[in-house]
Amino acid sequence: MDLGIRGKRGLVCAASKGLGRGCAEALAEAGVDLVINSRTEAEIAATAGDIAGRYGVKVTPVAADITTDEGRARVLAALGEADILVTNAGGPPPGMWTDWNREDFIKAIDANMLSAVALMQALVPGMMARGWGRVVNITSQSVRSPIAVLGLSNTARAGLTGFVAGMSRQVAGHGVCVNNILPGIHATARADSLDKGVSDKEGISVDQARENRQATIPTGTYGRPEDFGATCAFLCSQQARFIVGQNILLDGGALNVTI
Ligand code: NAP
Repeated sequence: MDLGIRGKRGLVCAASKGLGRGCAEALAEAGVDLVINSRTEAEIAATAGDIAGRYGVKVTPVAADITTDEGRARVLAALGEADILVTNAGGPPPGMWTDWNREDFIKAIDANMLSAVALMQALVPGMMARGWGRVVNITSQSVRSPIAVLGLSNTARAGLTGFVAGMSRQVAGHGVCVNNILPGIHATARADSLDKGVSDKEGISVDQARENRQATIPTGTYGRPEDFGATCAFLCSQQARFIVGQNILLDGGALNVTI
């Protein structure tokens, strides 16, 4: 399917690997010129070179911490205007609900809520003025069903979801569609590190921890970043013009919910 976005300009945050990279690859395949970001200079440069070489689009890497004002300013300076924005950042650490203090909450809210809000505030007005835009925020299945050990994530992402629910309706009349994708477990470095945490806590091998988690998913496997990216690219397509303020759960059926 031609997504109708060849020649558009997009920003994908936290994209040297994992889900962000999956989104960047799918958008590049659809012909979108990209600015991509993550903190480690060598990794983001290598990813940009790889994607540009494979898909023949322009990919500009920016090494910056997207959760800071300074990092976002550098990314936005390299970007200029954008038609497409994919927000993403690393997830907060697991723990017990009694572990976290004010500083931990502020850090998680900065990373997984306020940095996405700031990027939308910076880029969506230009999209509205031009009459076309797409925003996809990468959140988590924890928005639909809490993951108790990821209380910081549950909290921050619920805040972003509430913000998007309102603002997406305010901008839709200007041709801008804002939606969230809620990943279930995908085979990325983040999933590896959570498996390692379970392995350490339960005294089982990492392979066993992974097998146990896979058994909780009706598909029997973790999701793949490329499948996730394909959904993101579709939400950024011309065809997605009637999808507004939605929370698309990609979890292999793991959450046992009716809607
Ligand atoms: P990942 O494989 O660990 O990749 C994270 C990417 O983000 C890397 O490119 C990393 O590069 C970059 N990054 C991290 N912090 C950053 C920051 N402050 N500024 C800029 N770039 C940053 O993680 P993932 O699995 O793709 O997860 C992406 C998001 O989805 C996370 O918020 C995660 O919690 C959420 N999620 C993932 C899953 C899953 O199963 N994978 C499930 C639910 C939710 P650098 O370290 O070099 O910056």
